Amino acid sequence: MKLKFIGAVREVTGSCHILETGKNRVMLDCGGRQGSEKTPDPSLDKYNIVPSSIDCIVLSHGHYDHCGMIPYLVKLGFKGRIFGTPSTFDIAELIMKDSAHLMVEENKQDKSKKVYYDETDVENTIRLFHPVLYEEPKRIADGVTLVLHDAGHILGSSSVELRVEENGLVKTVIFSGDIGGGRSKIMNVPKQPNKADYLILESTYGNRLHHTTDPWEEIEKIAREVISRGGRLLIPAFAVGRCQDVLYALNSLYNMKRLPHTNVYVDSPMACDVTILYHHAALYLNPEFRSALSNDPRPFDFGRLEYVKKRIRSEKIAKNVEPSIIIAASGMCEGGRIMNYLPRILEEPRSCILFVGYQGDGTRGRAILEGAKEINISGRVYKVRCEVKKINSLSAHADKDGLKRYVEGIASKPKKVFVVHGEKEPAEMFANDLKEIGIDAVVPYEGDEVEI
Ligand SMILES: [Zn+2]
Repeated sequence: MKLKFIGAVREVTGSCHILETGKNRVMLDCGGRQGSEKTPDPSLDKYNIVPSSIDCIVLSHGHYDHCGMIPYLVKLGFKGRIFGTPSTFDIAELIMKDSAHLMVEENKQDKSKKVYYDETDVENTIRLFHPVLYEEPKRIADGVTLVLHDAGHILGSSSVELRVEENGLVKTVIFSGDIGGGRSKIMNVPKQPNKADYLILESTYGNRLHHTTDPWEEIEKIAREVISRGGRLLIPAFAVGRCQDVLYALNSLYNMKRLPHTNVYVDSPMACDVTILYHHAALYLNPEFRSALSNDPRPFDFGRLEYVKKRIRSEKIAKNVEPSIIIAASGMCEGGRIMNYLPRILEEPRSCILFVGYQGDGTRGRAILEGAKEINISGRVYKVRCEVKKINSLSAHADKDGLKRYVEGIASKPKKVFVVHGEKEPAEMFANDLKEIGIDAVVPYEGDEVEI
């Protein structure tokens, strides 16, 4: 059989790989690529991939960079089944509908912007969803059995195990998906697969160690400083996952009377919807989080918290310079409601932008974080006068030690590890780390085909 690497190789977005057995083709994720210079679609034409020739898709989780281009594939003729957990499908549906809506709206403003798919294509995609529960083996194609393991990254996230029968032998291919850091106060610790002949492994933080400081203490300290000097604390957060981490932190600080007395806003319609999904799935999450529900059955709702859905309300809050805490998407400052706040808050010396998640190469968030003095928004230049801070103890990805533990914890050592979903440097450094402990590891290039 063969592995083809189509996307999220030597970069972190656009996750897409294909496993070809003698009998069928299984696609692993079909995500959108992100970053201002990139087109979102996978390079299907470049690598002669005919969507109707794909037998099925396994979706690791609902983030856009893993599911965002599936409706495009459906539009181009994919008709097979799509496998994933029920929560992954709930999230993916929201993400795909939002993405379709955005593309249609952007095209109305600028006809050169391509509409890859619309709401009808998303509806056609949803009809192909086949939910699978964690740890329940499922035959998904002739000679291919799927098992999903809880990856502890976001709600519903999975590591994908494919058991492939070939010439009377069974080979196990593991696709890690995005692996959680294991210290989340909401998500479970990632489940370790027992066996992997071949491993496709993420490496977002393949060259870094996360701080082991308590994220709640860090958020409390920064919030107190900013609010007491009369500033606004703007937290760019991914609507799925990170936003709920921050909300749960603020909720817990509020319960412990450690949160400054101020208004808190969640300004992202998507984050509002996803938070409801997290609340409804609370009984499947981290045991400590579950047991805390008996004291506080509404872990994402407290005191002066307001969920902002209407644009007009968002614009009003953005103009109000009173001290407040604002959580807004997108997490990399590339679009969404955060664009209402950035032009103002960037130039407010008493305010602070607090980054709590990964900032991709070429994004506005990365530029702010790396100390840009000026930021361009819609053709206007804004001076960066506010404070800029980052905490990485909330990360939803394993750091290099976590990734190493994941590999070493697999009882039978993989014959080969393909290091993906990381920029060039972290991916290569992590592959070298694996080689030093005697594990064969490579960082594939986009379009590579490898016989396994
Ligand atoms: Zn993810």
